[in-house]
Amino acid sequence: MSTVSLARPEIATLSPYSAAAQERLAIRLNANEVPWDPSSGAAESLNRYPQVRPWQLRDRLAQIFDVPPQQLLVSRGSSEAIDLLVRVFCRAGQDNIVITPPTFGMYKVYADIQGAKLRTAPLKPECDFQFDVDEVLRVTDENSKLVFICSPNNPTGNSMRVAELERLISARRGQSLIVVDEAYIEFSARPSAVALMGKFDNLVILRTLSKARGLAAARLGCVLAQPGVIRLLDSVMAPYSIATAIAHRAMSILTDEHLARATNHIERLLGERQRLTASLSACESVDKVWLSDGNFLLARFHDLQGVKAILERGRILIRDFSAVPGLQNCARITVGSRNENDLLLEALGNASQSHA
Ligand code: PMP
Repeated sequence: MSTVSLARPEIATLSPYSAAAQERLAIRLNANEVPWDPSSGAAESLNRYPQVRPWQLRDRLAQIFDVPPQQLLVSRGSSEAIDLLVRVFCRAGQDNIVITPPTFGMYKVYADIQGAKLRTAPLKPECDFQFDVDEVLRVTDENSKLVFICSPNNPTGNSMRVAELERLISARRGQSLIVVDEAYIEFSARPSAVALMGKFDNLVILRTLSKARGLAAARLGCVLAQPGVIRLLDSVMAPYSIATAIAHRAMSILTDEHLARATNHIERLLGERQRLTASLSACESVDKVWLSDGNFLLARFHDLQGVKAILERGRILIRDFSAVPGLQNCARITVGSRNENDLLLEALGNASQSHA
């Protein structure tokens, strides 16, 4: 069965909204816009709709992520891409998604919204949260339309090896889409799964500009998939969803010079990740720190609530994961600037003293 035929039948036969034509320099009397610009004087006029899809931005991102343009859809962050995938492929009350908790929480949220069921192949702390492809395959059934593999995984920081990923994609060919969420891939020494795209039509990759590219406020992400899957996602996505100013701003930032500068930032951050891993491991209040391929660390404390209280006095926020099964006393700590990390370590030094 082709991957496209796994979509909900009503989406496969949907007639998408047909937006007004947008010819540059034409007299635009076809979209019920007004002819005056309330923002006149600003860099971007606001009275005209954005492009239905931001074509130049799409082409630039396709170049950066190394896929043909027709295999890429620009979305409002990769969060929206997750929502689109679940809505296109999962029939409410019948189909399910497979996840490997602890993992990014939005997969479940969008499945719940759509009425899709959830199947889980939990990652175990005693195995350093290593992915278990056999377990993923065991919990997957004929209604498992999407398998989300977050690699590097949020919040555990580990990745799935490409050979294992390939085994999973191959085993579910014609039955499930394997969605590899690479939100943190730029911080990892491992390669992107994009090299497998030519080989498998059931591979979908999510990328975001919110993390290593530093554009969280712009709300831009994208889906890489075969053209048929991109067309389906495109058919349910709202027209004009990327604001003109954001598309232009992103284009001005995604130049080769900017990208080279970002590489330097990432390298510095990786140095800080290494320093923080070692320093946290040496803190008395810390029980364990897991190695991470992302821009964050998962740490287990002897007394997380006590540590949080001390950090809060210094107005330092970390993300408490202690309510998540398997993550008692665990928190996720984003790797900050050198100064921010110093302040964290200094405060944790105090936490160690009060623990001792
Ligand atoms: N995937 C993962 C694994 C994430 O951690 C996040 C954000 N924390 C997202 C996707 C969504 O990011 P965005 O919508 O900003 O692209």
